[in-house]
Amino acid sequence: MDERAKIRVTLPRENPTSSYWQDPPDDIADERTTKDPPNKADIVIIGSGITGAAIAWNLLKDVNPGEKGSRNIVMLEARQACSGATGRNGGHTKAASYRSFLEHASLLGTPAAVQIARLEYNNIQAVHAFAKEHDIPCDSNPCHTIDIIYDQAQWAAAHEAVAAMKAAFPEGDPVAEYTFHSPAEVQSKFHCALDAGTVAGEQQTLYGGVSYPAGSISSYAFTTGLLKLCLSRGLNLQTNTPATSLMKNRDERTWTVQTPRGNIWTKDIILATNGYTAAIAPTFQGAIVPLRGQVTAQRPGSKLPEKGCLPTTYSFIYDKGYEYMIPRPKGSRNEGDLVIGGGLVRAKEEGLEEYGTTDDTTVNQDISDYLKDSLTRYLGVGEKGNWGEDHPDGRVRKEWTGIMGYTPDGFPMVGPVPGETGFWMSCSFQGHGMVLCWMCAKALVEMMEGRDNEELKGWFPEAFRVGFERMRKRFQGRLHTSVAVPPGPPVGGESG
Ligand SMILES: Cc1cc2nc3c(=O)[nH]c(=O)nc-3n(C[C@H](O)[C@H](O)[C@H](O)COP(=O)(O)OP(=O)(O)OC[C@H]3O[C@@H](n4cnc5c(N)ncnc54)[C@H](O)[C@@H]3O)c2cc1C
Repeated sequence: MDERAKIRVTLPRENPTSSYWQDPPDDIADERTTKDPPNKADIVIIGSGITGAAIAWNLLKDVNPGEKGSRNIVMLEARQACSGATGRNGGHTKAASYRSFLEHASLLGTPAAVQIARLEYNNIQAVHAFAKEHDIPCDSNPCHTIDIIYDQAQWAAAHEAVAAMKAAFPEGDPVAEYTFHSPAEVQSKFHCALDAGTVAGEQQTLYGGVSYPAGSISSYAFTTGLLKLCLSRGLNLQTNTPATSLMKNRDERTWTVQTPRGNIWTKDIILATNGYTAAIAPTFQGAIVPLRGQVTAQRPGSKLPEKGCLPTTYSFIYDKGYEYMIPRPKGSRNEGDLVIGGGLVRAKEEGLEEYGTTDDTTVNQDISDYLKDSLTRYLGVGEKGNWGEDHPDGRVRKEWTGIMGYTPDGFPMVGPVPGETGFWMSCSFQGHGMVLCWMCAKALVEMMEGRDNEELKGWFPEAFRVGFERMRKRFQGRLHTSVAVPPGPPVGGESG
């Protein structure tokens, strides 16, 4: 893994796989608000995923639609609008906070663990509420989810963690709302097979399930909808325009952003570049490591209740990994399709080759084969199973990959980059951005606009802030282990 973390991070690749959500691409996929990028801006946001879009929204939300604010804000996107992780994820708005709560509590203390779980819950609520308030057509579907657990240790850990959360939160607090289900209930209420078969010769024993509030959404449609709100308030979006380098000007306070279509002078740069951050900010090489994820959209089997429009979303958790699955809700395009991702540890060397790569132009065949067979195994085939016959057009409608950003401690990096002026970031959301990016964007703009005060500290975790110590941590082993290195080179060069 240490070697994978050293692979030089690249800019987003040309010709990526096309995701289920980007088919067809949105009207603004190739948006260029002005023919050429402006050569001067107050703020340049790099990246048009949910983070970049939510930052732009927080900067522009007080501007009336059709008017321009007092600040010129330019957004650069290397490929089409929202073509990074946000445009190619699994669409799950699911915190699963109990799965990290005890680790956070032991590392940071219980109050910080409570704060993180509350932020995750609030993020999910805020995203679905925003979609509703602004009528964004993105199949926003707040609902319950169930984690189906096939591992004794994980089952025991789930009980311990839920008990700890119930003790740490006030009674009835929805953040700590969890219900356990027996294997019989998992079968009768959640349509899963009692016998999930064997994988690599190992029997998958069903221990039970845990249900709680979550949701699903087309993150692509949500974010392109959000970008349109920003465009109507004066955002200048330049797609297919990578930032290729960031140069500190001689005054030490302003920046020049280089692109193949010309340079932009700016007072503030914001990195919303997630797994690609180190490509233009080399200090983060090895501190934010790309990890490729893979997802499939599958047509439901003939016997599935509600034609596949199951009322909950799912995760399937086993000893070393998990899959996540959302059924496409009633009324959505291809309703009842099952979008399932994961399978990382089922690939060669438990998915080692997926770390450090920015190649989302292709899929991993081991993972494709595994995901294709997972659904029938989890839901059950044969007379007693819930799957039935495959759809006449075949099971897999679409498969694709996308690039996530991972930090050694598992937390995003948000805030002013230390040692620099006018240089900000909100990056590296692991596989968890739909429950973190919204609130991190809000926090970043609070910091930029001088409201980094007690109120912000009350809801925004200290552990998410970028600092020298976190910037020096490098991966050792797979996830959540690190070693410190001496300070790296400066973030940018110097220009005239
Ligand atoms: C396959 C997959 C499945 C996932 N499933 C889920 C899920 O179900 N639920 C969940 O919560 N999370 C999920 N995630 C994670 C989630 O999608 C991300 O955490 C989240 O979308 C991050 O958003 P972002 O805006 O920070 O980054 P991104 O969406 O990656 O956006 C970064 C943007 O920056 C652009 N960019 C980068 N460098 C440059 C440059 N130099 N110049 C110009 N533009 C640049 C990129 O092209 C990209 O569009 C998944 C991720 C993947 C890849």
